[in-house]
Amino acid sequence: MICDNISINSKGHLTFAGHDTVELAEKYGTPLYLMDENKIREHIRIYKNAMAEFFPEGSLPEFASKAFSCKQIYRIVKEEGINVDLVSMGEIYAAKSAGFPMENAFFHGNNKTDSDIKYAMESGVGHFVCDSADELNAVNRIAGELGKKQKLLLRITPGIDPHTHKKISTGSVDSKFGFPIETGAAKNAVKLALSLENLELSGFHCHVGSQIFESDPFIDAAEIMLGFISEVKNETGYMAKLLNLGGGLGVRYVESDPVIDYREKIGEIAAALNKMAEKLNIKLPEILMEPGRSLVADAGMTLYTVGSVKEIEGYKNYVSVDGGMTDNPRFALYESPYTVILASKADKECDFKASVVGRCCESGDIIQENVPLPKPCRGDVIAVLTTGAYNYTMASHYNRIPKPPVVMLKDGQDYVAVKRETVEDLCKLDV
Ligand SMILES: *Cc1c(COP(=O)(O)O)cnc(C)c1O
Repeated sequence: MICDNISINSKGHLTFAGHDTVELAEKYGTPLYLMDENKIREHIRIYKNAMAEFFPEGSLPEFASKAFSCKQIYRIVKEEGINVDLVSMGEIYAAKSAGFPMENAFFHGNNKTDSDIKYAMESGVGHFVCDSADELNAVNRIAGELGKKQKLLLRITPGIDPHTHKKISTGSVDSKFGFPIETGAAKNAVKLALSLENLELSGFHCHVGSQIFESDPFIDAAEIMLGFISEVKNETGYMAKLLNLGGGLGVRYVESDPVIDYREKIGEIAAALNKMAEKLNIKLPEILMEPGRSLVADAGMTLYTVGSVKEIEGYKNYVSVDGGMTDNPRFALYESPYTVILASKADKECDFKASVVGRCCESGDIIQENVPLPKPCRGDVIAVLTTGAYNYTMASHYNRIPKPPVVMLKDGQDYVAVKRETVEDLCKLDV
């Protein structure tokens, strides 16, 4: 199987984190998001330990919580002792109300409004990651009004194309994110940040993209960033304390994706960074990384119930499920690959092929095309694997479909982390 938390039991049912998925579908109903808490903790520890092993003291991962945000994940991240990335008032509120220590939070976003900035500061967010001169001035002004000194990183665009999907590539010079080095904007931003009295510059941030399988784009970006740090030091005397390399390490969605050894990748990046720092004769700053997807994706699975099975003779087959683009828009957005398994007949031969589609009034409401399956019947349970990242957080209410609940699996136990929405919830704000 694609991940070691998935298997098939003696009933021929797919299991996830040791649980029978058909039984979970009966107990909680479908569509249903499942999250394997032990797998999340395992990934966090791999990053945390590898960063402690290879990088200078103080180096830590941050969970990019846009990948999966609910109060319970902030409690888990807090217990594991790593930092968190937040990008909106909603994420700040969720983290804060879950008791996350806000000094360990980094606030991202290319267009933070004045009210976002004020809310983040009043919530005690440790670092802002600033994206533009307008923002630096606004953060300085609001910090002054609140009588605070705000720590920050500057988001720098190193000019890297990581050869991933265009919509998830963020590090090129013409990106909407950050200050490009090439045009001189990055250096001007350093000078501006150092000149503003209510700001305290902690260092620099970059993020080149997502679903990246090689170390090279990270190494290229990191080398460019170290070169920039060295230049800034020579020109202004300012030496960065923190260097954040962003997120983006890939995950295995289908068998043809490579298996990634995160510890090994971090070791490769560290080796290149140490060499470069030595060459530039600078001390390597504390390193931060921001994994989102790679901490939670394969900790997730979505269960659906099969509704209609439609065979258009001479053309194609459709299997319609009781969810779709509302709980997983990623095929509609990026044609993302997913592994789909008929969970209630997981031991049967896959002698049927179909598009697995959702229930929305859109032809593009597709979970996956050309899926080999045993021929399903109405009532069978379908599992879509590796849905722990960018599914629940990207879910919508299109067609007024309520969002599925999130059930966490831990040490043989199952518990609700997010309740199923009701139609009353959906209309709560209607007047
Ligand atoms: C999305 C994002 C991440 C996380 O990316 P993953 O591919 O999920 O690891 C990290 N940092 C920033 C700034 C991001 O925008």
